[in-house]
Amino acid sequence: MGKLHLEVITPAGVVASVQADMVVAPGTDGKFGVLPGHIKFLSGIVPGELHYTNGNKTEYMAVSSGFAEVNNNRVSILVDSAEIAGNIDIKRAMSALERAKQRLTKKLDTGDTDLARAEASLKRADSRLKVSGKSS
Ligand code: ATP
Repeated sequence: MGKLHLEVITPAGVVASVQADMVVAPGTDGKFGVLPGHIKFLSGIVPGELHYTNGNKTEYMAVSSGFAEVNNNRVSILVDSAEIAGNIDIKRAMSALERAKQRLTKKLDTGDTDLARAEASLKRADSRLKVSGKSS
């Protein structure tokens, strides 16, 4: 069946460019899995956990928002940010989560945009904290 080639790309650079037997990613319509031979597919990506297996190794990553394209055994994930589990700064994510929670509960901000930003920030921090626990 062959392998997949997974690329996780952010504005800061290529976070992963690896071979994989399976990729599972957080799509806008829910979690989706990709195996070699998958049909051409496009999806939005929402903040959450992406993981892939290669042989008997599984690697976990936290991704934020963006897009995924599956074509010809290539899985391209284009997101605003992505961190490999072991590279996540837990203290930083905890303070981001706390900041976002305060903004949401105290409604410190007046405009809707700022609350939406706080919600998005909370989701990023939450997924970073969950994924950081899966570092190998
Ligand atoms: P913060 O408020 O702590 O900056 P954020 O959610 O606003 O968090 P982003 O704008 O999503 O941060 O990311 C900016 C850059 O910082 C990206 O390159 C991202 O990978 C990196 N980054 C953000 N939070 C962490 C973290 N907890 N650990 C490691 N890298 C992080």
